[in-house]
Amino acid sequence: MPGTGVAGPLRCVVAGAGVLGVCLAMRLAEAGAEVTLLDRDQPGQAATRSSFAWLNSNDKAPRAYHDLNHAGVRAWERLAGSLGAAWYRPAGNLEWAATAAGRAELAGRVRRLTGWGYPAHLISAAEAGELEPSLRLPRPAPVIAWFPGEGYLLTEAMVSHLVSHAVRHGATMLTGERGRVTGLEAGAEASGGGGWSVRTAAGPVIPADVVVCCAGIQVPRLAELAGAAGPVPLVPWAEPGATAPGLVAEAGPAGSPGLTRMVHAPDVHLRPHAGGLVHLEAPGAAVDLHTPGGELRRWAGELLHRARRITGGLDDAAVTGYRVCVRPMPADGQSIAGWLPGARGVYVAVTHSGVTLGAHLAGLIAAELLSGTAAAELAPYRPGRFPAGNPHPSGR
Ligand SMILES: Cc1cc2nc3c(=O)[nH]c(=O)nc-3n(C[C@H](O)[C@H](O)[C@H](O)COP(=O)(O)OP(=O)(O)OC[C@H]3O[C@@H](n4cnc5c(N)ncnc54)[C@H](O)[C@@H]3O)c2cc1C
Repeated sequence: MPGTGVAGPLRCVVAGAGVLGVCLAMRLAEAGAEVTLLDRDQPGQAATRSSFAWLNSNDKAPRAYHDLNHAGVRAWERLAGSLGAAWYRPAGNLEWAATAAGRAELAGRVRRLTGWGYPAHLISAAEAGELEPSLRLPRPAPVIAWFPGEGYLLTEAMVSHLVSHAVRHGATMLTGERGRVTGLEAGAEASGGGGWSVRTAAGPVIPADVVVCCAGIQVPRLAELAGAAGPVPLVPWAEPGATAPGLVAEAGPAGSPGLTRMVHAPDVHLRPHAGGLVHLEAPGAAVDLHTPGGELRRWAGELLHRARRITGGLDDAAVTGYRVCVRPMPADGQSIAGWLPGARGVYVAVTHSGVTLGAHLAGLIAAELLSGTAAAELAPYRPGRFPAGNPHPSGR
């Protein structure tokens, strides 16, 4: 593929500077590629900013996808260690279940994960209290699981660090209208007859040997611009009732005893956030991009109420922010990573587990681009697996 046979450094345009784009730009720049990283906004402001950012392979199937995500968790440990990163928080995760069905599912999951070599234990209420002194566990004590290998990222700090790192290694970052990709033209003059010309709304036309589309929910749109022969199908996100959007809220200040770990209770998920806040999500909050503001505010208050019931330190807290954000979710629930059929030299990467997978996927993709050798680990996730016919169902 394009990585071979190019004279001089490989010219790579990475379209989209969320977690996938910044990890990849950094890897490519470190390896000596000529990298231009583009974003129509500031880096990391789309799904990556609002993500729960839980590094896990807690409930991923089949086994190969579990292993890919587990490798993702370990890749962050290595990367953060090498960069000395304060945004990497290997805090562990506590989860409990209240209903009989929930208890059976949790115990079964812990057994399965343990058998797969993934750190997971059932623990007592006393042990949970020692691990997280701020917990107010329900009575009678629920079934509690502890996942010590999991953690989270403070994504805004991570993005900023990795962009700086990429730029120090020679990458160019263009944002706003100068970074908004509006056209992808194959074999045009600006590319010297081969490769691609990348048009932006207000920036230069950028010649590239390889274009990598890391634009989250906009990947189908970029694939369309590149003239893809098949779809990059995502779960619908724009229409009323769509399930890809989710509500997140922040609350604070968190008093003493402050939350230190990730917590998954049956009706609220929470973790510490930057600035002494907690980040909150509700598994059952049915919101979409059309939900009225008053309803979102009500949900945000409800999340804080639920969080107060199960953890101390939030009694004097208030909601400081809330918003609906969209998860880029490939239609079959697995990642999409590979060369785009019908657009030689254009690569697409989009996944729902983008924070967990970012560091690891970036390493695999960079190796594919630079060596021209396909990574066996990515074989199940190629875009060509989707049948043609309904070309770009979620592009907008
Ligand atoms: C509420 C929520 C909770 C989540 N929880 C988790 C979790 O716990 N763990 C986990 O691993 N994952 C989680 N995810 C998923 C994860 O956040 C995403 O998979 C990940 O952030 C996607 O990163 P990305 O870089 O692919 O896309 P994004 O972060 O969406 O970035 C895409 C970028 O492309 C840019 N862009 C778009 N169009 C163009 C264009 N035409 N030109 C230039 N730039 C463009 C955008 O501005 C954006 O910056 C969650 C997501 C949400 C929304």
